[in-house]
Amino acid sequence: MQTDLDLLILGGGCAGLSLALRLAEAPGRCRRVAVIEARPDYANDRSWCFWRLGPHRFEPLVTQSWSRIAVRSASRVVVADCAQTPYQLLEAGNFYTHARHVLANSDTVRLSLGVSVNGPPVAVAHGWRVETSAGALTAAQVIDTRPPSVPRHGDSTLWQSFFGQELVCERPVFDAACVELMDFTEVVSGAVAFTYVLPLAPDRALVETTLFDPHPRGPSDLAQHHRRAVRRLCGDAPTRMLRSEAGMLPMGMAHDPGALGRGHLRAGLMSGAARPATGYAFQRIQRWADACGEALRHGKTPRGHHTDPLLTRIMDRLFLDVLRSQPERGAELFVRLFGGTDMRRIVRFLSDRGTLLDRAAIVASLPAGLFLRQLLRSARRDLAEA
Ligand SMILES: Cc1cc2nc3c(=O)[nH]c(=O)nc-3n(C[C@H](O)[C@H](O)[C@H](O)COP(=O)(O)OP(=O)(O)OC[C@H]3O[C@@H](n4cnc5c(N)ncnc54)[C@H](O)[C@@H]3O)c2cc1C
Repeated sequence: MQTDLDLLILGGGCAGLSLALRLAEAPGRCRRVAVIEARPDYANDRSWCFWRLGPHRFEPLVTQSWSRIAVRSASRVVVADCAQTPYQLLEAGNFYTHARHVLANSDTVRLSLGVSVNGPPVAVAHGWRVETSAGALTAAQVIDTRPPSVPRHGDSTLWQSFFGQELVCERPVFDAACVELMDFTEVVSGAVAFTYVLPLAPDRALVETTLFDPHPRGPSDLAQHHRRAVRRLCGDAPTRMLRSEAGMLPMGMAHDPGALGRGHLRAGLMSGAARPATGYAFQRIQRWADACGEALRHGKTPRGHHTDPLLTRIMDRLFLDVLRSQPERGAELFVRLFGGTDMRRIVRFLSDRGTLLDRAAIVASLPAGLFLRQLLRSARRDLAEA
């Protein structure tokens, strides 16, 4: 018995649409593809930023590219030049519009908006059966990019919770040439909390309040800190809000291997895409979509997100353990890291391209005693849990 589809992609967000784009361009042996997305329409709900490591497929959609970033604590400011690997902004709204346009003209990939998937796929002869609000579908393979669970305390070493607003001030108050990557000016006791500012023009910026904490936090938990940050940045200049965005990104989630059974795979933010040290996932999703699309069009078994190399996992975990146990030292550690390491090394490390020398330089910039003590504490904890 033939299935309705070669491939069914559950969830048409960043991961689902990224894979769909690859298959629409070059389907190979994967010719009948559907993407099922619950949202009836897309909104400009995310500001995806990443370091440009070289030419990439979304170059025409990038709306901002910065060559300087700043990291500041209450007592010190580090401004770093990143002109060789600019920090770029791709607004999700532009990405969704582009994907819809490409898929509307595709003979092989169909995008269904406003259709919800109900429950997990069920194995049937030759593939999988998926119940949706528009009826059941069968497919030889299913790639599930829906978040497998809601963010919960304990599922990740830390959660990166943030709430941001795109603001227009009546006076120019932002330095449009420099991203405020981490501004710890306002100290929040017992938490790693900072403001992230993407200046879009001298009078317009996305101002985000971010917290690294074992508990995931919603916008209302961040509201007070956010109001203070906006007041400090914009002063008494009348301010208008254009839009807002919020998120909870896992930092140090137990790795999800992705494969759930023959022909059934998980992918996306909560399934191994997020880099533990940063919560960033956009570029990792693109690398996964490239590899997954390539496998599917050649009739090979697609895989989930790569497990990070051992050394990266150890470094990320140790750093997160230090932040979790000593959040009050967060500002100092980030300022030391960015102030004491060549920016090119940091960017390579954060973008999964770090060399041994890059890692050594990063380790050398941080206080050895603090990390050694944490290493011993973490080792003792692991032994006790084993
Ligand atoms: C506000 C925000 C800003 C971010 N900024 C950055 C950044 O600057 N850099 C970076 O690298 N990463 C960033 N991230 C992290 C990451 O890149 C994004 O979360 C990215 O969207 C993850 O892609 P995804 O496909 O896993 O999840 P999503 O894009 O959320 O896609 C999942 C999709 O599944 C759909 N869905 C869920 N349930 C169902 C169902 N039952 N039936 C059908 N469809 C369903 C959802 O509607 C959604 O469209 C950000 C995240 C957020 C939230």
